[in-house]
Amino acid sequence: MTLAVLASRALCGMHAHAVRVETHLGPGLPGFNVVGLADTEVRESRERVRAAILSSGFEFPAGRITVSLSPADMPKESGRFDLPIALGLLLASGQLAAPPSDGAQPAAPDPALAHLVLAGELSLTGALVPVAAPLVIALSVARDAPDATLILPAGSAEQAAWVPGLRVLSARCLADVAAHAAGACLLPNAAPNPWPTPAPVPCLSDVRGQPGARRALEVAAAGGHSLLMLGPPGAGKSMLAARLPGLLPPLDRSQALEAAAVAAMAGLPDTLSGQPPFRAPHHSTSVAALVGGGSRPRPGEISLAHHGVLFLDELPEFSRRSLEALREPLEAGRVVIARALYAAQFPARFQLVAAMNPCPCGWRGHPVRTCSCTPDQVARYAGKISGPLLDRIDLHVVLPPSDPVWMAAPPGEPSAAVRERVMRCRERQYARQGKANADLAGAELDEFCLLAPDAQSLLQEAMRRLAGSGRALHRALRVARTIADLDGEDTLAASHVAQAVQYRRPGV
Ligand SMILES: [Zn+2]
Repeated sequence: MTLAVLASRALCGMHAHAVRVETHLGPGLPGFNVVGLADTEVRESRERVRAAILSSGFEFPAGRITVSLSPADMPKESGRFDLPIALGLLLASGQLAAPPSDGAQPAAPDPALAHLVLAGELSLTGALVPVAAPLVIALSVARDAPDATLILPAGSAEQAAWVPGLRVLSARCLADVAAHAAGACLLPNAAPNPWPTPAPVPCLSDVRGQPGARRALEVAAAGGHSLLMLGPPGAGKSMLAARLPGLLPPLDRSQALEAAAVAAMAGLPDTLSGQPPFRAPHHSTSVAALVGGGSRPRPGEISLAHHGVLFLDELPEFSRRSLEALREPLEAGRVVIARALYAAQFPARFQLVAAMNPCPCGWRGHPVRTCSCTPDQVARYAGKISGPLLDRIDLHVVLPPSDPVWMAAPPGEPSAAVRERVMRCRERQYARQGKANADLAGAELDEFCLLAPDAQSLLQEAMRRLAGSGRALHRALRVARTIADLDGEDTLAASHVAQAVQYRRPGV
C-alpha cells in the first residue's frame, strides 16, 4: 500500500471539524511535504514524526512522502496531526501489515481503521503528548460521528471519556497505536476521570441586611433575569453578585461539559464543575478578553460565563467599546469572531449582573458622607452606559448604604433555602413554556402572562406614568411572571405587577 487515509480533527471555535489525513509514499527523490494550509507547528511535525518512527523501532520510509490535510482551506494548528501522519506513514510503507511474501503487495489494513479518529502530538521518543481541549474534540466527534472510536494520548483521553456514548481509547506511545492498528495488541478503553464534586460557593447568609437587594437577587435567579445594582461603596453589591451562582440550579452533565470545553479552549486548567461559572472581569479588561478574539480565536469572559454569571462591577468604568460589544451576544447567546478565512463561534448564554455607584465618588445621596461630584460629572458618569444596554437588563435595584443595625441582626436566610424556591420556580417555567421567563419573547409574553383585570389597569397606568417603551413593558411582564411563579400563581395579580414595575432604572 502506498496511500493511507486516516481521520483527525482541527479546532475552530467550539467545533472540531473533521480533517482527512492522506499520506502518500511515492517514488522519486526523498522528500517529506505537508500540504493543506498547515501552519508552522504542523509543518514541524515532519521532524517529530521522523524521530518518533525511528525511536519506536520502525523504519523511516525512503521515497517521496506527501501528506495532505483536507479540506485544504481550513487552517490547521498544533501538533495533534503528528499521530495520524506517523500512523499513515507506517501503513503506507506496509510496516503494520503481515510481511509481504514473494514480492506481493502487503495486505490491506483492517477496514476498522476507517472508524478511527486520531489526535496526538509525538515527542521525539515516540511517546504521545496530551492535546489541547480534548473535550471539544470528543463533543464534536460524539455529535457528528457517534460511531467513531477516538484515540487520544493518555491524560487527554480520560477527559474525553466524560462525553457519554463515545468510545475513547487511551494511548501512551506511537508503538501502542501501531500495535492496535495491526490488530496485535488492542488499546484499552479510557477510564473517565472521576466526576468532580462541586466546589463550595459563598453563602447568602454572609450578607447582612439589604432585604430589597436579596429579594431582587432571588427574582433574578428564579427567572434567569439580568440585574443591575446601584448603590454606594460597601453596600454589598459584589458580595450579593458572588452569591448568585449558589442560588442557581446546578448544571446538568451536558451543560457542565460544555462549560468545561469553553474553559479548555481559553487555556484554563481542568475546570469541570457542576456549579454555574462566575466570572468577574475587571473594568480595564480589553474587548478581546471580554468577548473573545486573537489571531487564533479564543473565548472571552462572556463565553467563560456560559451557563453561569457574568458580573461587571463598576459598569460605567468599562470602555464604551466593551459595553457595545456585549449587546449582540446578550441577545444571541453566542459570539462570532470573524477571521479572514473562517469564523469561530463560541457560546455565551450568561446571566448578566452589573453594579455601579450613584456617582463617580460614590457618595451621592449618602446620609453621612458628602458627594464631591458636579452635576455634570454625575450626568457624564451615568451617560457612559447606553440606553440599549440598560434596556436589556430586566431588574434594576437601588441599594441603600449599609445600616449599622443590620450588623447586629442575626444572619439572613442561607443560599440552600433560597435555591429550593428558585428550583421550584424554574420547574414551573420549564413545564409551562420550556424556557426561563427571562427568555420569553413578545408573542410568548401574551400567551403566558395572563393578567388579572386590576393588574392590567395597574400596568397600563404605570407605563403611562413612566412613559415606558414597549421594551420596558416586556421587561415588567417578564419580571411579574417570575414573581407570580415564586408565589405559585398562574395569573399575574396586581401585587406581582406592582413589584415588577419597582425594578426599573431610577428616572426611567
Ligand atoms: Zn459623588
